[in-house]
Amino acid sequence: MKIEKNKVVGLSYELFVDDGEAGMEFFESVPKEEPFYFLFGAGQVFPMMEAALEGREVGYKFEIFIDFENGYGDYDETKKVIIAKSKFKEDGKKQKDLLKIGNVIPMQDDEGQHYRGEILKVDYKGVHMDFNPPLAGFDLLFKGEIVAIRDADPEEIEHGHVHGPGGHQH
Ligand SMILES: [Zn+2]
Repeated sequence: MKIEKNKVVGLSYELFVDDGEAGMEFFESVPKEEPFYFLFGAGQVFPMMEAALEGREVGYKFEIFIDFENGYGDYDETKKVIIAKSKFKEDGKKQKDLLKIGNVIPMQDDEGQHYRGEILKVDYKGVHMDFNPPLAGFDLLFKGEIVAIRDADPEEIEHGHVHGPGGHQH
């Protein structure tokens, strides 16, 4: 079976990242036993990754280099913002445990868009948060192997994501 639109693809890989200063450094690995699954052609992974995998079969070994502009984009200083502490209250209660440096917090703006922000510091001005993706500004190198390909079921195609192990559970 070849990779094409509406196939569920499982990958194992090691990801190396380079911010242009220290050279390529190991970032994370996804083992064969617990692959990363995604729905091909649904915009779930970088277009350059899909282009490199299209038409390939299980067992294909890849090295895919994605420069930061085609990856998570450049680091954007304007995505560092200060948010009033009162915004973090829930049911009128302060959430002390939440406001810790390094915590990554899912948030929503007025239009309902979801963002993840990392807390950089908390001071009298409020909560300083960074909404850049953790790998913004990094070139990416994926070294890995295709470990699974199957047909997506109609519900997965409708939802635009993978169900079952390694996918959405609902
Ligand atoms: Zn679903």
